[in-house]
Amino acid sequence: MRISDILKNKKTFSFEVFPPNPQNSSISDIFSTIDALNQYNPDFISVTFKSSGDFAQNTIDLASYIKNHTSAEPLVHFTCGALDKEDVNRVAAVLEQEKLENVLALRGDKPADFAGEYLKCFKHASELMEYLQQNHKFCMGAACYPEGHIESESLYDDLVKLKMKQDAGASFFITQLFYDNNYYYRLVRVARNMGITIPIIPGIMPLTSTTMFNKIMNMAGASIPFEMRVLFDRFRDDKKAMYEIGIAYSVNQILELLANDADGIHIYTMNSAKVTGDIYSRITNVIERELR
Ligand code: FAD
Repeated sequence: MRISDILKNKKTFSFEVFPPNPQNSSISDIFSTIDALNQYNPDFISVTFKSSGDFAQNTIDLASYIKNHTSAEPLVHFTCGALDKEDVNRVAAVLEQEKLENVLALRGDKPADFAGEYLKCFKHASELMEYLQQNHKFCMGAACYPEGHIESESLYDDLVKLKMKQDAGASFFITQLFYDNNYYYRLVRVARNMGITIPIIPGIMPLTSTTMFNKIMNMAGASIPFEMRVLFDRFRDDKKAMYEIGIAYSVNQILELLANDADGIHIYTMNSAKVTGDIYSRITNVIERELR
């Protein structure tokens, strides 16, 4: 089913997973995680795609597993920075053969070890979307950035480009992670004023360990609210407390987003069914009423 058709009738509850690195483990290692995530009845599960274009088959295999073994729709991330038109057609043909009809069209970032020319054919996600729209029949989503994309001169400029993605055929957006909901509310407000009408689904990344916290702190473009920084700093040596704080923070963030009529909830699961389940179990009834 096309995600755009689901969104016509309801807000969505969804997850992101990533395929394991084939050098370290086999794709089947994550199937039990997918089965566990399926218990929480997600409308769709998105599968990441390496920006180098490598291991696309792993992404497709995982999406096919979701299609054939769960009640969720798979959403295949499709990064174009390393691809030319032939590559795109090749990937698209396999998706079509596997009846994978939903893609999240993305540019990707040049990996540090990428030897070839990046952005040689498609310079932006919108160009991939125009190409896919002319040559294929996917339901397309795209990425957006509550705090603005790091390369953008301003939020306004970023939103002008976001509108281009809607014009190029996007039926929904999924946001980059954020920890202060005000950025999401501002994004939606300004986007609506600029004629962006499609759902903007907030992406929630639970921060449940010091390692993850440090990673996000070092990642440009994600502000960490003062209280969260204080708590994570105070409990940085206490794994259990860090976990509790991370789950509680995500739960609060989701509740506030739902209270403010967010267009859905997308959880970056980091392949942890436990984290996702611990969030879901605390607000099962709210999710069931708001997102079903
Ligand atoms: P674009 O839409 O091309 O935007 C990139 C920059 O260019 C922005 O500053 C934008 O304002 C500007 N821009 C956009 N269009 C134009 C235009 N036509 N002309 C001029 N400027 C323009 N990365 C992966 O490698 N694999 C993944 O699976 C993956 N999944 C993601 C999922 C989500 C929900 C999000 C938010 C990000 C994901 N990313 C992934 C990261 C993403 O690839 C990077 O953030 C990348 O830097 C931008 O991708 P984009 O599709 O938003 O690019």
